[in-house]
This record gives sequence, C-alpha cells and structure tokens, in this order.
Amino acid sequence: MSAKTDPKPSGPILVWFRQDLRLADNPALHHAARSGRPVVPVYVLDDETPGDWRMGGASRWWLHHSLAALAADLERLGSPLILRRGRADVAIRTLVAETGAEAVVWNRCYEPYAIARDSQIKADLKADGIEATSCPGNVLNEPWTVLTGGGQAYKVFTPFSRAVVARTDTGPPLPRPERLTAPVRAPLSERLEDWELLPTKPDWSTGFTPLWTPGEAGAWTRLEQFLSTTCVGYRDGRNIPGQDGTSRLSPHLHFGEISAKDVWRQGQALAARDKRASCRENVDSFLREVIWRDFSQNLLYHFPTLPDRPLNQRFEAFPWASDPAALKAWRRGRTGYPIVDAGMRQLWTTGWMHNRVRMIVGSLLVKHLLLPWQEGERWFWDTLVDADLANNAAGWQWIAGCGADAAPYFRVFNPILQGEKFDPDGAYVRTWVPELAKLPAKFIHAPWTAPEDVLRQAGVGLGTTYPRPVVDHAAGRERALAAFAEIKDNNDAA
Ligand SMILES: Cc1cc2nc3c(=O)[nH]c(=O)nc-3n(C[C@H](O)[C@H](O)[C@H](O)COP(=O)(O)OP(=O)(O)OC[C@H]3O[C@@H](n4cnc5c(N)ncnc54)[C@H](O)[C@@H]3O)c2cc1C
Repeated sequence: MSAKTDPKPSGPILVWFRQDLRLADNPALHHAARSGRPVVPVYVLDDETPGDWRMGGASRWWLHHSLAALAADLERLGSPLILRRGRADVAIRTLVAETGAEAVVWNRCYEPYAIARDSQIKADLKADGIEATSCPGNVLNEPWTVLTGGGQAYKVFTPFSRAVVARTDTGPPLPRPERLTAPVRAPLSERLEDWELLPTKPDWSTGFTPLWTPGEAGAWTRLEQFLSTTCVGYRDGRNIPGQDGTSRLSPHLHFGEISAKDVWRQGQALAARDKRASCRENVDSFLREVIWRDFSQNLLYHFPTLPDRPLNQRFEAFPWASDPAALKAWRRGRTGYPIVDAGMRQLWTTGWMHNRVRMIVGSLLVKHLLLPWQEGERWFWDTLVDADLANNAAGWQWIAGCGADAAPYFRVFNPILQGEKFDPDGAYVRTWVPELAKLPAKFIHAPWTAPEDVLRQAGVGLGTTYPRPVVDHAAGRERALAAFAEIKDNNDAA
C-alpha cells in the first residue's frame, strides 16, 4: 500500500496588493509564489471603505504611476496585475468567484477602517472554505509586538525607540519571485487610465514629475543614492530645508514600494561597512526617523481615533477659531511669513514638504491662527504624495500639543527665528518665494523690517507683490497662550 500524501494545491491564489506595491521582500507575494498555485495579483481602488480618508489628490497621482510600474514588473514575471474599482470586500469576492481561487493573501495595514474591513473579509472567506492569510505589514515591528513592561502601548517616543532597537531583527529579505504562473481563467482587468487618478487641474502635477519616480525601482534608486551621498551629513543636514539633506523616501515607504526592513538592513549594512563613528551616527539618526514611522503606526493602532480626535482629551474643549481668509492664505502660501509661504508652495508644487518646515507651517496654523489642526491635516492629506494616515495624524497632533509625546502647547515656534536658524542665507525662501529672491539675507525672513529703499531695490512691494504678515507674531503667540490657559483653567476647575 502506498503512503497517502495531501494533494498539491491547484486552485489559484489571489495576492491582494495594497500598501505594498513591490516584488522584493513582500511577505504576501512570497507566500503565494511558494504555494505552487497559479497567482492572481490584484489591486482594488476602494474609495468607499476609508470614508473621509479616501486617498487624496497627490497620492492618486503617485498611485497611478506606482501601479503602472508594478503592472509592468508583474507582466514580466508572467501574471498580469488585475485592477478593480469598488468596495474591496465585494471586489475580492467577485474575483474569487471569477477565478475559482482557493486562497487569498495580503499584507496587513493598520488603519482602523482597514483592520475592520480585512477582519470581515477574512472571516467571510474562511466561512466559505477559502484560505485567507494576512502577513505582516510594512513596518519594522507590528504595533502589538512593541509594548511597555506592563503590556501597554507606548505613548512616549524615546522608550519606544529603545525597545525597537533592542528587538528589531530583520533577518534576510524575502526573495523577489522569479516567475509566477498565471491562472487558466484570467479575469478581466479595468484600465488604469479609466480610473482618472491624475489631477485634472491643468498644471498641478507638472512639478511632481521631475522630482519623483514612483515604483519599486525608483524607491531603490532613491535609497541607494541617499546612502551613498546625503546620508553622510544627515544628522545636521536633515534640518536644513534649502539642502537636499533627507532621503525623500516617504512616499515610497507609504506605498510600500520598498520595505521598511530593507531600508533598515541597508542602513545597518552601510554602518557595518564604513567603520567611521560619524557614519554610524548619521545612519542611526536616519533610522531613528524610520522608527518614528513605526511609532505613528503604533499610535494609530492603539488609539484609532488619532486622525480625528485629540489624544489629550483636554483639547476637546479648545477654543479654536474659524477664519476662512486666513486658512486660504495659509494654503496658498500667502501668510506673509516667508518660510511658511515657501513650505506651502513647495508642498503645492512638488507634493512634498521638508519635515522642519512641516513643523513651522503647522505651528503657524494651529497656534498663531488658532485654526484646528484637523484643517492642516486635511490639506496635507490632499496635497502630500506621502500622505499617510498614521504619520500625518501623529505629526499634526504633535504640533498642536494634543498628541502623544507632544511638544507642550505653550512652545510656539517663532517663524522668523526658525527661518533665520534653519535657512540662514534664505536659499529655501528664494527658491519657493521668488518675489523675495533679491532681498538681502538679513531681511529675507521678515521683509516688513526692511527699509523702504531696500524693498524697492529688491522689487518687493509689501501688500502688493508680497503680503504683510497675516498675524503679528507676538500678538498671535499671546492669543494662543490665552486660549491654552482657558482649557487648562477649565480642566483645573473641573
Ligand atoms: C504636520 C506633519 C505632518 C506629516 N505628515 C506626514 C505624512 O503624511 N506622511 C509621512 O510619511 N510623513 C509625514 N510627516 C513626517 C515627516 O515630515 C516626513 O516623513 C518626512 O519629511 C519625509 O521626508 P524624508 O523621506 O526625506 O524623511 P527622512 O528624514 O529621510 O526620514 C526617513 C523616513 O522616516 C520616516 N519619517 C521621517 N520623519 C518622520 C516623522 N516625523 N514621523 C514619522 N515618520 C517619519 C519617513 O517614512 C521617512 O521617509 C509629517 C510631519 C509633520 C510635522
């Protein structure tokens, strides 16, 4: 009598791509490629499930190009990418039926809506006898694995970071599959062009194109360039917006075109090769930012209202202002504070803003203008190519002083001093606010302090070619502190 073996699985497996638009070090794709089944790679444009957090305009531009790159890569492997639009639960079930798939696999996302949706899909598939597997998402450590000694979520970055450094062991990367077998019954794909992901505003994305190469190959080129050049001066250079001093990997990481673990491995490998202490310091400084990314995911997972509600509940009663004209001036980069306006214009033109400047523009919005942090978060959501629910919400709550590990509310950034410190010769302002380009460095961060003849010589007309400050710094600061005192007093009295 011959020994019985389990029959080899034969029905197709769907690989549901989401924020993991890559082939290398992709746990779900690796699982599928090793299963011996025909593989159906799928992307679903689900604008319904995320509700108010459906993908913004700049992200859609990125997605279009990233999907085009992924589709070309999958085509080369032998199994083309299938595109579907609509609610993901419906689209996945339809595809299972169309292809006769016996299994579905994906990499986890940690947005609250994604967790709820995916758990339901998994339960429904399993109830129908379909294998449903979820793999770790694009983080160094999944949010439930890094907890305090008491089993609680970390709310402070430094101990979180220490815990991450102590426990992160990436192991070797998962190989990129060499070939995929297409299913016999290949489903039809929608056409990417029909999704109209590219902006219809005529000139909005023209400034994105020269700066970015969405897709896995672009992500690796960016990482390799950064590690071989910019990284050597990262620790200090990362704060100078006029320099190309950071990696600009954020959209690549958000869309999962490169894994956070691969970034970690490559950074560690560089520090191991180049024995200089300065190299280690710069690499550590860079990887510390990658840990901030995990920290935000940790916050979003443990505090799912993070994008909408202040973590510090005291801020529920904060007396925010409503000032549509000031909000418009901020969005358009016409606040009269050059470093703020430079940042907002860099954002609009390139889909990205330097981290130091994100903090400065954010502070002006929520402190000097007293506008709700959610207004800034929304604008960033629509205009950033790296818009990320966790990082964006955590960043805004930090700025507003109501988040985890936030700077205290009474610390109000002075946009003039910040400009003078981090853009001393005004290179950044000159690039993004060309109407001030001819002002001497001494006045470039506060043009209203320049004598008339200096303004005239530089071709600056205050209130005509360039606005006067939308709010006086000292008055804005006082007003912010008074508003803060209000919620402090109310809570003290309660
Ligand atoms: C108000 C505000 C909103 C923000 N919104 C987003 C957002 O929507 N998406 C986003 O990816 N980042 C956001 N950030 C964080 C940060 O500004 C960007 O990640 C960074 O500027 C991206 O540039 P880089 O890739 O050159 O960063 P690098 O300095 O090269 O850092 C490497 C990587 O670390 C991560 N990282 C860096 N800084 C942070 C940080 N402070 N918090 C979390 N992760 C970080 C990013 O993935 C980044 O690509 C926000 C920050 C603030 C203050």
